[in-house]
Amino acid sequence: MALTFGLVGLPNAGKSTLFNALTRAGAAVAPYPFTTIDPNVGVVAVPDERLDQLHALLQTERKVPATIAVVDIAGLVQGASQGEGLGNQFLSHIRTVDAVIVVLRCFADPDVPHLYGSIDPVRDATILLTELALADLALIERRLERLQTAARTGQPAARREVDLLRRLQAHLNAGQPLRTLALAPEEQALLQGFGLLTLKPCLYVANVAEETAPDTRPALDPLQTLAAQQGALVVLICAALEAELAALSPEEAREYRAALGLTVSGLETLVQTSYRLLNLITFYTAATTREVRAWPVVAGTKAPQAAGRVHSDMERGFIRAEVVSWADLLAAGSLTAARERGLVRLEGRDYVVQDGDVITFRFHV
Ligand code: GDP
Repeated sequence: MALTFGLVGLPNAGKSTLFNALTRAGAAVAPYPFTTIDPNVGVVAVPDERLDQLHALLQTERKVPATIAVVDIAGLVQGASQGEGLGNQFLSHIRTVDAVIVVLRCFADPDVPHLYGSIDPVRDATILLTELALADLALIERRLERLQTAARTGQPAARREVDLLRRLQAHLNAGQPLRTLALAPEEQALLQGFGLLTLKPCLYVANVAEETAPDTRPALDPLQTLAAQQGALVVLICAALEAELAALSPEEAREYRAALGLTVSGLETLVQTSYRLLNLITFYTAATTREVRAWPVVAGTKAPQAAGRVHSDMERGFIRAEVVSWADLLAAGSLTAARERGLVRLEGRDYVVQDGDVITFRFHV
């Protein structure tokens, strides 16, 4: 199942430009059709050099990159939680995403009006956070109303939940997103299905102007400070440039980028930062000649659960994992050569999967 990112932003922040650039660029990096489930959802192949190298070495029939679904979420404007713009319609789309990407306008352009007349990413970020927080508060209030009777009759689980929800309310009312509240693991588990928006990991995309060199950009320190206080991360992307590059062939785009002194694409920057935000690492499978494939998992995942990502039977019948790091495999030249050199380790149920592991799972059927 692909990770899902929801894109939000004030009107004219460059959200649609970024969405189009990402989905087009993501389609170009892999021999993979860019699938449109819905005009507002783009499935993007994750650029992955290690996967490319493994594919070149192993010559499998297919190369299957990890994918990310990007959802363009319309309607989040000031007052959305009170019914402005598309009102609360945006909520149904955003409740289920794994992370929220907030596009903030940092480019000045007299031809593109700003809703509030000036370029001020911290103000815009605060407006958007307020809307998300109000939506969370409304959800918490509805839940509290439903719990009241049970809590009054002294049901301990209901009491505990009411206490937790009151803590969440206080935190939101203090202007803080829920992701900065310390929660016990059982509290996190309880809240998991709620779809609380400010609990989701958040990435700020500073949509900067094309022509400005890094040292002449608007001061982004205040945004960095805000993000740090909120447990969020910031990336700088020029959506207009990415859109131009996405229209070129991958080779042309690479040359153009190199001429501008850029080494990675906007999509790569976004993916790398998102993986960091979500604490994800990648392992690879290449057990047959059919395909080599990338699998993102949360850091700390143990071998049987990693196997479960591939197939539930593999987790249930897990025997052991044969593991070689991608670098060792490339250096050895083949899986057989890596085995002969003793670079392939046999690992058991307690093995914690490492970033870049190439794993063959052994399991009972
Ligand atoms: P949305 O309302 O957030 O979806 O914004 P759009 O993506 O439709 O962008 C609004 C306008 O700003 C369009 O005319 C874009 O071409 C322009 N735009 C978006 N990103 C940039 C950028 O990085 N630089 C400049 N100069 N214009 C941009």
